[in-house]
Amino acid sequence: MLIRIVVPCYNEEAVLHATAPRLLAVLDEVSRAHPDVAGDVLFVDDGSSDATWPLIEELCRTHSALHGLKLAHNAGHQNALVAGLEASVAEADAMVSIDADLQDDERVIPEMAGRFLAGDDIVYGVRRERRTDTFFKRHSAQAFYRFVRTMGGDVLYNHADFRLMSRRAVQALLCYPERNLFLRGMVWGIGLPHSTVLYDRHRRLAGESKYPLRRMLSFALDGITSFSVRPLRLIAVLGLLFILIALGAIVYALVSFALGVALPGWTSLLISVWFVGGAILTAMGIIGEYVGKIYKEVKRRPRYFVEKKI
Ligand code: UDP
Ligand code: MG
Repeated sequence: MLIRIVVPCYNEEAVLHATAPRLLAVLDEVSRAHPDVAGDVLFVDDGSSDATWPLIEELCRTHSALHGLKLAHNAGHQNALVAGLEASVAEADAMVSIDADLQDDERVIPEMAGRFLAGDDIVYGVRRERRTDTFFKRHSAQAFYRFVRTMGGDVLYNHADFRLMSRRAVQALLCYPERNLFLRGMVWGIGLPHSTVLYDRHRRLAGESKYPLRRMLSFALDGITSFSVRPLRLIAVLGLLFILIALGAIVYALVSFALGVALPGWTSLLISVWFVGGAILTAMGIIGEYVGKIYKEVKRRPRYFVEKKI
């Protein structure tokens, strides 16, 4: 039986030399506990512009359990992960995805393997606490989960992309044809027997986060709009609310007219014009977001291209 760890790497030259031995050590532990289970690692270079790929090649030459996959361009974290899973699904019985910086505690992988051998198809890594994250990251991430939830996206609280999936779970995931990937939501939607493993999130080993605020916001927006049409519905609700307000305003205007006190209406008129204008633009923006998604989906572009394998 083979358990493979898939590691997306984008400009991770600073951490890879530390990541590889730690993952190998954990796989050793798995093999010691379950002698019939072998483990290996697949590094997916997501079109890095630094020395990540040469480093992966070097690592692969030093150890037979290390493999590398080089994507032709930067396809993004989610696509890189799918590339790694797709390349592994034929060989591996289970696949664990983990970030290259090992912020997610790799030492719970044996526990994940145990759950898998006991029959679970998906084992979610769930963060116990976020003490080592910056104040901002911690709170923005929590707000992110809450917001995605209220907007109708279904995700497991405090689970990022650290999880084990059995072959059939990955096969199920690969059946999803969409281009807008939000894996933690998609995997959650698969179902199948699953469980969770708790871990503490650490500080990044080295290098810097590839998810600055701008990318996090765009990821949150993707999460919501690729999972739920609730924002579109909210627009309709907002529209109805405006009609109600307008009905009130009409009654008010007619009564004022009847009483002969009409005309001093400039202020209210000005305010409503701006407010309604803003509301319409916002609504159009939200609809535009979905139209953009549809555009991306209908183009049916490939998610990534593999340039090299080692
Ligand atoms: N990553 C990737 N492609 C990208 C951006 C990030 O493969 O375009 C990888 C990155 O190398 C890391 C993981 O995705 O292994 C998560 O990135 P990071 O640790 O920078 O995000 P954070 O933990 O700060 O949210
Ligand atoms: Mg990280």
